[in-house]
Amino acid sequence: MSKVIGLKCRECGAEYPSGIQNTCYECFGPLEVHYDWDEIQNTVSKEKIARGPPSIWRYADLLPVDGTNYVDLGSGYNKLHHAKNLGKELGLKELYILDDSVNPTNSFKDRVTSVAVSKALELGATAIGCASTGNLASAVGAHAAKAGIPAYVFIPSSIELGKITQMLTYDPNVIAVDGTYDDANRLASEVADQNPDWAFVNINIRPYYTEGSRTLAFETAEQLGWNAPDHIVAPLGSGALLCALTRGYSELEKIGLIDSGSNIRISGSQPTGCSPISTAVQNDTEVIPIRELDTIAHSLAIGNPADGYYAKQAIQNSGGYAASVTNEEILEAISLLARTEGIFTEPAGGTTVAGLKILVESGHIHPDERTVVYVTGNGLKAQETIAEALERPESINPSYSEFTKKFSNITENNN
Ligand SMILES: *Cc1c(COP(=O)(O)O)cnc(C)c1O
Ligand SMILES: [Zn+2]
Repeated sequence: MSKVIGLKCRECGAEYPSGIQNTCYECFGPLEVHYDWDEIQNTVSKEKIARGPPSIWRYADLLPVDGTNYVDLGSGYNKLHHAKNLGKELGLKELYILDDSVNPTNSFKDRVTSVAVSKALELGATAIGCASTGNLASAVGAHAAKAGIPAYVFIPSSIELGKITQMLTYDPNVIAVDGTYDDANRLASEVADQNPDWAFVNINIRPYYTEGSRTLAFETAEQLGWNAPDHIVAPLGSGALLCALTRGYSELEKIGLIDSGSNIRISGSQPTGCSPISTAVQNDTEVIPIRELDTIAHSLAIGNPADGYYAKQAIQNSGGYAASVTNEEILEAISLLARTEGIFTEPAGGTTVAGLKILVESGHIHPDERTVVYVTGNGLKAQETIAEALERPESINPSYSEFTKKFSNITENNN
């Protein structure tokens, strides 16, 4: 028996068989994976998970892929760091960082892509595609290469050189659009409509794609000894990651892998130059799409977030909050994380850490709460942006006297 019954409309509950489809024909609501939770409860266990591979596929019983023919580059099961130094600096008793910058293509997008491409092959797709702010394009390029299937990735032309270099190397068909992510996404959606056998991971097979991010909740709980955190902080782009984390934790409660009634508070962070979701939470209004984007956090530059409405609801229903942070705060947070915990992140991670700081300072996160922060991308991908905020070292002649001139106060103290 399959653990996946099919697809189901989040709004009206209409049911569909598994397939390349993301929208309800009845009400145009988004579809989600319809699991057979009785079947899952009969197969999943902590012991079985512990015997699994050190990747997202240790949670295969909770993922929407049948069989074991995974397109797997080894994503996930990344370290949950007990961030004692950063916690001390911010005044938090128990702070953890799940570092997802160390995935195969250096962002959390490997989780969603590994699941989506595995499912696309199962559904008989003849090509893979995506619209991307940069990281998804590399993840899709890499997994399509591994699967030996053609890929079409649509990006705004303005993203970081490091990300473009990386994605080009995996050799997908790269379509760089003069415009925003939302423009690239519109074009990709049109191409998807014209080519129904092509699986666009975050468009026409989005219901399966988002499922991969739930593994971030699963591996957090597992590394906390199957306990829930009190408060989590995630970056907000389309809002899909935050919604998947919310679902992941509530499913762990439903199947009894963590205690029910954990009441996890869920908070998010966005850059001020593109903060439709955070603004909606702060003002308690609808999520209003924006057209003009101005932020160094390109991975989060989505003016019309597909899951914005649901992300706002998840935040408010949990008693969490949402921060918006400036470019300067993002760059400061990148340094703060690196110098306290030894983790080098891109501006999306800087946005999350800067949001954490603001939420603690404003009292939205309590010092006693066991808090988990999701760092989703690697600093090496956005070097030119980060370099602008750093002072290059002045070079010296390679002589001991030059060294002592530069560090005279230190060398004198040591004598
Ligand atoms: C895509 C991305 C996000 C945002 O994820 P959503 O699911 O769109 O909210 C956050 N961080 C990084 C590094 C990303 O690449
Ligand atoms: Zn519907």
